Amino acid sequence: MRRTKIVATIGPASDDPATLRSMINAGMDVARIGLAHGTLEEHLAKYKRIREAAADVGVPVGILADLPGPKVRCAPFPDGGVVFEDGAAVTFVTGDKSSSLEAISTDYDHLVDDVEVGDQLALGDGNISFLVESKTGDKLNARVIRGSRVQGRPGLQVPSDRLRITTPTAEDLRFADAFIEADVDMLAVSFVRSGHDLRSLGTEPSPRGPMLVAKIETRAAVENLEGIISASGAVMVARGDLGVDYPISELPHLQKHIIQRCIARGLPVITATQMLESMVYSPTPTRAEASDVANAVFDGTSSVMLSGETAIGVDPVNSVATMAEIAARTDIEFPHDDWVQGVSAVRESEGSIDAGALTTDSITMAAQRVATQVSAKAILCLSRTGYTVRSVSRFRPAVPIIAFSPDDRAVRQLSLSWGTSAVRSEERSASREMINDALDYARTLSWMHAGDRVVVISGNSTATRATDTLRVMYLD
Ligand code: PEP
Repeated sequence: MRRTKIVATIGPASDDPATLRSMINAGMDVARIGLAHGTLEEHLAKYKRIREAAADVGVPVGILADLPGPKVRCAPFPDGGVVFEDGAAVTFVTGDKSSSLEAISTDYDHLVDDVEVGDQLALGDGNISFLVESKTGDKLNARVIRGSRVQGRPGLQVPSDRLRITTPTAEDLRFADAFIEADVDMLAVSFVRSGHDLRSLGTEPSPRGPMLVAKIETRAAVENLEGIISASGAVMVARGDLGVDYPISELPHLQKHIIQRCIARGLPVITATQMLESMVYSPTPTRAEASDVANAVFDGTSSVMLSGETAIGVDPVNSVATMAEIAARTDIEFPHDDWVQGVSAVRESEGSIDAGALTTDSITMAAQRVATQVSAKAILCLSRTGYTVRSVSRFRPAVPIIAFSPDDRAVRQLSLSWGTSAVRSEERSASREMINDALDYARTLSWMHAGDRVVVISGNSTATRATDTLRVMYLD
């Protein structure tokens, strides 16, 4: 049973119903729709196809709509692409006609004003980078530091503190409204710099509203991480853009730090970008990519993400299956005991959380310990919003977490949470009835047998709404 979740980006290579169904069967837990290219109508049509594919397969796939944020886009390069050579001279201008090896046109009117001599700019995921050497009139004169091939309409990465446009943009708000109307499960917010940027979206708390996924891809976001964690429902380590704002040598350490802070505070965290990059073209990943996925799991990531591999790659289903295989194998080696000690120590050292949160914290920490000590087969977690489930999940219990919620969106939002399978439960007034329903469900699972022990956690207090009850029960 795989514990680490898989997010796969849906693009032209994967947005037909048959491929979507095969990707779900291969292990896609969350489908990501990148909103940076294409029209709103195309995105909503894709969203509908994913929902239909998930209903056909019968899996509560979460859908993550990824807002573009203040991206600078280049005008298209010639068909077949061009290859930038190291050391070549290039100018950057504003315009929307076309880009070439000599002049790159962008859609950002203030580029020449905002960028400074000495800044580095990059194309796409940072494979091609430039150093700005001078400005003349309405042009930036730059030199290629690292060359490579580019095609299509790549994004231009500008140091995040230079741009005067901020997140969320007017376009983000328009996309967000349309996707909230469509009942999307999660909204990823690009180029977040603080908790305030997330609050500016004005969404309802999840699961009434979508879960906000803060993409950590700027220096400002790393510096304001705690405020961002307080204002978001999950976090993405967006390594593509983060690797432009920071030297590449910092990335592995930032990844560990961000994951550790999110997990300590009960937020799911996605590790993203170039995880199996060579599978865009190739049927197998490199050895280094396989290790990258495994190491992200050991760092404590809740989910690993596929980008170009599934959006434009040669075999999206194979990319999902390969990632699922690597993650599942790594999950077997996960050091559950060391992990729980680490997270518990961080929680205890931080103190000062409100009474309800403190109760949920203590019960969920105890749940994983009791489950191990009594050799329980699973932790059954009754939760309306999913908060308690995320709280248990962060302790990385060795046994499966089965979550029950009467809220469809909460169930789909749990598709991001490590080690959790979520089930839609009936609305009941008494917690005794909810527990009976959960036990009835457990009895239907092929790996559960009469006499097996389970740990059941639920909330009985209407005053705090906290999870305050832990029971060890037997299946009859
Ligand atoms: C990233 O920068 O790593 C990322 C996931 O963001 P995007 O793909 O939207 O640029």
